[in-house]
Parts: sequence; structure tokens; C-alpha cells
Amino acid sequence: MSSEPTFAGLNLAEPLLRALSAAGYTRPTPIQAGAIPEVLAGRDLLAAAQTGTGKTAGFTLPILQRLTENAPARSGNGRPRALVLTPTRELASQVHDSVKTYGQHLDQRSMTIFGGVGMNPQVRALRGRMDIVVATPGRLLDHANQKTIDLSGVEILVLDEADRMLDMGFIRDIRKLIAMLPKKRQNLMFSATFSSDIRKLADSLLTDPASVEVAARNTASESVEQKVHLVERHQKRDLLSHLIRSNDWEQVLVFTRTKHGADRLADKLTRDGVQSAAIHGNKSQNARTRALEQFKSGRVPVLVATDIAARGLDIDQLPQVVNFELPNVPEDYVHRIGRTGRAGCEGSALSLVGGDELKLLAGIEKLIRRPIERIETEGYAAPRPVQEDRPRRGRGKGAGAPRGKGNGNRSGRGGGPRQGQGRGAEGRGRGQAASGRR
Ligand code: AMP
Repeated sequence: MSSEPTFAGLNLAEPLLRALSAAGYTRPTPIQAGAIPEVLAGRDLLAAAQTGTGKTAGFTLPILQRLTENAPARSGNGRPRALVLTPTRELASQVHDSVKTYGQHLDQRSMTIFGGVGMNPQVRALRGRMDIVVATPGRLLDHANQKTIDLSGVEILVLDEADRMLDMGFIRDIRKLIAMLPKKRQNLMFSATFSSDIRKLADSLLTDPASVEVAARNTASESVEQKVHLVERHQKRDLLSHLIRSNDWEQVLVFTRTKHGADRLADKLTRDGVQSAAIHGNKSQNARTRALEQFKSGRVPVLVATDIAARGLDIDQLPQVVNFELPNVPEDYVHRIGRTGRAGCEGSALSLVGGDELKLLAGIEKLIRRPIERIETEGYAAPRPVQEDRPRRGRGKGAGAPRGKGNGNRSGRGGGPRQGQGRGAEGRGRGQAASGRR
């Protein structure tokens, strides 16, 4: 790539350049420099990029430009020309915010469509001209089935955080939606990870795609202080309650794997006198917004969230993140801890690791290429290693699959920064049970 690309050098139109400079962005990020020319050229795109890389502008800017340049003879009411699918409402809102920011000097109409809010305002908005729709799959499908939206005019389709959408079980909805789109269209797919399911989807969706990948945002794993506390699973809740109180943590985001687990943990902590709220996909939009506000304002010091719900949460500069359970996919660990220590702030991440999670821990240490410091608390014994760490609670279908091949099998894509694991071995001296295998 030539040195120091500029937005103007990417051939973005003047109204977009104006919006970018108003937003204070001077240079494209690597994903933007890679993606924008390909999208402007009309190619399909497969992009390996996580949140925080600037990926949203990477597709929003060229889409706005293409829609403007290729203005149709007539725009349809409720008949969008660009469709962005996202896994969560929060992400849909964020993407839509970008569309509005970058498109402020253009005449492109846009809206979000997601569940958990009334259908009628969406129906009303769809009665008028609509150019860009940012939607979660389920609610969009409702509209499509009720014919309140007409997808036959979609020229550009974006799957944002495609891996999340598959994890959340949206694949059938996505396939149904795709079947309603015109055959001839441009397809862009963004994903942070590349399981075989994601590759299958990419193969079926994309035609001769350009591929762009950027380094995983591993900087988080370097700037955040990380610790592991080995502990028996059944002691985790007591231990966390104890740690929050004894350390006087005032704002801590806790990750659990399941919605039910999030609720139970929040209840337990609250019973122990530590005000806590849970946030996950089963909660209404209002409940989520309320929990988030209480947490941000400091009234509720602990927010317990599933990975999916935590995505797109706009909380910066958290001092403390706790992994109540390790995620199945090592990259998710980096996402999670990236919630803290942002913008040069001190951040700290603690993982409570049970005997059945040691293999997951080893996978994480391999990804970040160093062992994580162990801490102990009196009265809480480290668990015996359990050889197998199968995903529990029968979440079999999506949850376990990516991990199984996760570390070794990311070759090709997104693999660059993750593959050079040779160096990792050096630091493994004190890695305990966790780091010896594989
Ligand atoms: P994203 O990965 O799309 O969620 O973007 C991450 C953050 O980077 C957002 O807060 C964007 O506003 C910001 N951002 C996007 N593009 C740029 C850029 N070229 N320069 C600086 N910040 C950017």
C-alpha cells in the first residue's frame, strides 16, 4: 500500500470529505483504506475486522457515495437501495449514526429497523422514500413478510459482524432475507472471526470478493492489566462478590456466557449488597437502556452482560472488566478486555477460570502470546484441572464449533497476527496447567 493514504486520495466525494473533516477524521484507518476503493469499484467484499477498526465508515462512506452517484430514475417508498444487517439493536443504531454523520450533506434517507420497539413508527417511516435501512434480521423479516418493506430494490447488502449473527442463530432469517433481494447486487461481509460456517456463508453470498483484513486489535491485550483467578465453578459467585467488596470496585462490567447466568449473578450480587443489573438479549430495549444509564451514572456499580449484549455498548474507559466465564472464542476475550483501558486509561481485567476452562485459557494465552498472571484469594481453592472443557448447557450448535478449530484454523484470513505463535512459547515458563498443552 502506498504510504499515508488520505480520504481524498480514496476518491471520496466532496460532501463526504466535508463530513469527515467535521468529524475530525484526518486519515483513513487501514480497513477504510483497504475497503473503500473496492466498494466504490462495485466489488463484493469480505473483510476481517473487529469493532474499533473504523469498519463502519469503511462501508458507510462508499455506500453513500455509490447511492448518490448511481441515482435511480425513481426511488421507491419503503424500497431501500442499501441494506445493512447487524446482530444487535445497539450496533444497528451505531451504524445508523454513522450513516447520518457521514451522509449529512447528501440526500440519502435512512432508518433503523429492530425489535423491542413498536412496529408502527417503522411502518410509518417506510411509507416514505427510504434509501438505506440498517436492521436486525428478525424484525426486518417481520416487515418483509407483512410487505411493509420491499426488498426488491436492494443494490448493496452489508452483513456486519456476520459471525455474531450466526452465533445468535440468525442464519435462517438471513437466508430468507437474501432470497428476497435481487440477484444482481453488491455484497459486503464483515466478520471478526472466520469459522467454517462463516466461510460457507461467504462462499454462497459473495462473488469474486475483494478481501481486506486488518490486524486484530491486540493493543488492548497489551495495555490492559490482566489477571486470572483459578477457582472452583461453584465458588465463583461468592468470590466475585467478595472481590468487588474488598477492592471497592465502583464500576465493573462482568461478562457471563448465558443470559440466565447473567440474571442469576446480578441477583446474587444484589442480594449480597452489591447493586447489579443484567443486560442481555431477552431484556426489552427500555430495560437495557435503563440498566446502561444506571451503570454509566454510577448508581449501579456492576453491570452483568453477555458478549452479545455488551457489543455495541457505548461505555468507554471502564476501570474494571471481569470475565465470570471465559468466552468460547479467544478473540472474544480480546474484545471483552478492550472495554477497559481505552484512550490511555488504566484498565484491568480479571478472569475467573474454572477447572473446565483451562483449555480456553490456554487458547487465549496463545492468541495474546503471553501467559496471564495468576492471583489467589484465601479460602478459594484452585480447581483441579478437568481435561475436557466441552461447552456446557447444551449450547452445542454455535458455541463450541468456532473454538474447536479456533486457534489453528484461522489460516488465510485474519490469521496474520494470530499465527506467529512461536514467540509465545518463550514466556510460558510459569504457565501452569493451562499452558502446557497443545
Ligand atoms: P468502528 O470500528 O466502525 O466501530 O469505529 C471505531 C471508532 O473509530 C468510532 O468511534 C469511529 O467514529 C472512529 N473512526 C472511524 N474512522 C476513523 C478515522 N478515519 N479516524 C479516526 N477515528 C475514526
